[in-house]
Amino acid sequence: MGSSWFDDSMSPSSPVTVTVTGAGGQIGYALLFRIASGAMLGPEIPIRLQLLEIPTGQKAAEGTALELQDCAFPTLDSIAVTTDAAAGFNGTNIALLVGARPRGPGMERGDLLQANGAIFGPQGAAINDYAADDVKVLVVGNPANTNALIASAHAPDVPASRFTAMTRLDHNRALAQLAATLNVPVYSISNVTIWGNHSAAQVPDISHGLLRQPDGNKIPLVQALAQKLGGTASVEQWLEEVFIPRVAKRGAEIIEVRGSSSAASAAAAAVDHIHDWVGGTADSWTSAAIVSEGSYDIDPGLISSFPVRSTGSGWQIEQDLELSTGVRARIDTSLRELREERDLVRSLGLIS
Ligand code: NDP
Repeated sequence: MGSSWFDDSMSPSSPVTVTVTGAGGQIGYALLFRIASGAMLGPEIPIRLQLLEIPTGQKAAEGTALELQDCAFPTLDSIAVTTDAAAGFNGTNIALLVGARPRGPGMERGDLLQANGAIFGPQGAAINDYAADDVKVLVVGNPANTNALIASAHAPDVPASRFTAMTRLDHNRALAQLAATLNVPVYSISNVTIWGNHSAAQVPDISHGLLRQPDGNKIPLVQALAQKLGGTASVEQWLEEVFIPRVAKRGAEIIEVRGSSSAASAAAAAVDHIHDWVGGTADSWTSAAIVSEGSYDIDPGLISSFPVRSTGSGWQIEQDLELSTGVRARIDTSLRELREERDLVRSLGLIS
């Protein structure tokens, strides 16, 4: 692997190499301008962008690269477009794996996983061979948790903790729904968690959530919701019937209203994920899918969403949170799905 951008010998303003796959797609179009403008790593860090596409997406990525050039962002050091994974991941410090095979008509889950295995296996191997020593990987392309598992399995020299999958959009959607319901600013809400798989079986959990009031005191979110909705029983009902389905099915709602899938919000969540991983979380935890080491009885090796904090060097799981019976049951359902996906990709020979 190549050199690291955290090397002491390098000045803090050495360019950081960021690879984006699927750069010609919708999310890529919303993501690249924010990365290049400094929104992800800050205004002091020059960015070297490497856009990786498949041949059918190459022209679109090249067009996006022309527009990026025209923005004249002071933070944009260079842009390269390639269809070659070795070149795309060469020296990369941050890899955003956005391009994935969407589910086509009549495609079974096994077909989808096999098609994505053919993308994420070789990409993991190329990251292993060509990326910088400190590479950090975020998988956005679905099924994100299992795609990250496949990529990691093909990168034996990269610590598994560097392969993550995105549940930050689910997390942000949960914060936004809570803020709208309570009629408070999003930043006053903290300690909300998404557990498990990034799928309809995800587990939005507000049981440890806090609301900062105008006087600075924090109260439990459940208490604030009970005041708003008329009692604890109403909160339970709202969580079951409104909040959890709304967050889990928000993607479908966006498609119905907008006429195409969410792209800018997915891109914003990817920026948030890397921003907090590299720069550290503030006073609240966030949610990210990372490799399990067994916390909360989640099978070691599975890539599951957890409550996480970062000090800038890596994600740490918030430990010892008490889980209600209801939340535990939902996590177990989400875990069953993750195990099935893992077993399927194992049976297809995509991981050992
Ligand atoms: P998008 O840019 O809209 O989506 C890309 C991936 O992100 C999909 O897997 C999509 O999953 C996933 N995703 C995750 N979260 C969200 C969300 N909240 N909303 C929508 N999507 C989400 O897809 P496009 O078709 O516009 O672009 C894909 C690009 O990837 C194409 O340019 C294609 O050429 C490229 N590609 C590149 C590959 C490579 O570099 N090797 C391999 C395969 C494709 P879902 O399908 O579930 O919506």
